[in-house]
Amino acid sequence: MEMMPGTSKSRQGPQGFICDSNITVAMTQEKKAPRLFGTNGVRGIVNSDEMDPMFAMKLGMAIGSFMKGKVMIGTDARTSNEMLKSACVSGLMAVGCDVSDCGVVPTPTLQYAVKIAQAAGGVVITASHNPPEFNGIKAIDADGTEMGRENEEAIERIYHEGRFTRADWRRIGQVTQNLTVVDRYIGGILSKVDGLAIRKANLRIAVDCGNGASSLVTPKLLERLGVRYVTLNADPNGAFPGHNSEPVPENAVDLVELVKSGGFDFGVIHDGDGDRTIFVDETGRYLQGDRSLAIVANYICSLKPNRLIVTNVASSQCIEEAVKMAGGRMLYTRVGSPTIARAMMKEGGVFGGEENGGLIFAEFQFCRDGAMAVAKMLEIVAKTGQLSKLNDRIPSYCQCKKKTGCPEGRKQAVLREIEKDAKGLKVDTTDGIKILFDEGWVIIRPSGTEPIFRIFSESKTASRAEELAEKYKKKVEKLVNG
Ligand code: MG
Repeated sequence: MEMMPGTSKSRQGPQGFICDSNITVAMTQEKKAPRLFGTNGVRGIVNSDEMDPMFAMKLGMAIGSFMKGKVMIGTDARTSNEMLKSACVSGLMAVGCDVSDCGVVPTPTLQYAVKIAQAAGGVVITASHNPPEFNGIKAIDADGTEMGRENEEAIERIYHEGRFTRADWRRIGQVTQNLTVVDRYIGGILSKVDGLAIRKANLRIAVDCGNGASSLVTPKLLERLGVRYVTLNADPNGAFPGHNSEPVPENAVDLVELVKSGGFDFGVIHDGDGDRTIFVDETGRYLQGDRSLAIVANYICSLKPNRLIVTNVASSQCIEEAVKMAGGRMLYTRVGSPTIARAMMKEGGVFGGEENGGLIFAEFQFCRDGAMAVAKMLEIVAKTGQLSKLNDRIPSYCQCKKKTGCPEGRKQAVLREIEKDAKGLKVDTTDGIKILFDEGWVIIRPSGTEPIFRIFSESKTASRAEELAEKYKKKVEKLVNG
């Protein structure tokens, strides 16, 4: 609850009343505790107050008190993993949870393990693509999906209120090592792709695992598929000696060079925890994530009419065009992979994802899956031809991304003014405000974690995209300052 003006000397009294020298105000809602989980778990710099063993243990106690059963745990390849995992496992055991320790695994491998083991949930120690000094703790729901906000809030309440279900000494949890999850995960992927077509095509690819957790999965998967490959940075190393673990163009320079040297059908680069994959075509062109999303969506829709594809409202128009070309349908959601995954589950979406390279295959599991994306792209290339040709078939758009500062308390008022200003235009308010023009669109979206607005635009020409983004950035600035 926000502090009311003039009550700065208030203190919380008994029975949920705020007491002041002269006024007593009934609290209209439960006091909101500080948020722990961000858009992708809890993240922080290792051994700062926000991500040290004490925190990991207490959060483990809170997660375990919520999950109440067997918990699968895994880590990416960071140097602080064992320290944080041990602390988190202690917390889980203290509240009576049995723990299955899966070691270093990609996040989707752990998610698959939770689902098939019918565990109460999972924990991944990972900071995904963040620099090496970071680490994080991410909770997985019992169905293997990224935990929804409601459940995260329940865990946060237990944490802040210290309501841990400490176990009797006879019921302390037990920990066992689990060495089978990678093989079972690879087996699961193999059951969802046309392995025969892939084997027959005699493909050769280049793989950059970024010294992350995918090092332990993707090469093995390729061997099982009979695909020849050359690896870069395929040994887990938390110092990230190859490059930082976000699969952006500046980190894909070596991969692009390798693919350009010739003889590869395509290249792939994973992020640190292996839930995202970015592709480089056989000519060495880095494909932005919305291109691979469009290519895979087009293929999946071509297999059966009227299939539903899900992405967020800030995604490129090229995805919708690729889907319509193949007789499919589109559903747009708010930004964020858990939202997309849940919309797919609810509405029967067969495939979805976002432009960052996180692709979700409903037939396998409802979460972003980097290795599954590699296997599916192998099938697509094996059956339909070169990646560069597939990419050229998809219409191209130019995008422009800007941001501008805005205090938290002003965000909603600014949005209302932008909406008023757009009266008479075609508007979509799924997430922020998207304004559609004949020659493109612009979306104005408040960040959920920072005091900023993000302004993205798209059009056929770079100059028009720039013009649209700049125009609305100025409008937002004027409203913030006015
Ligand atoms: Mg990731």
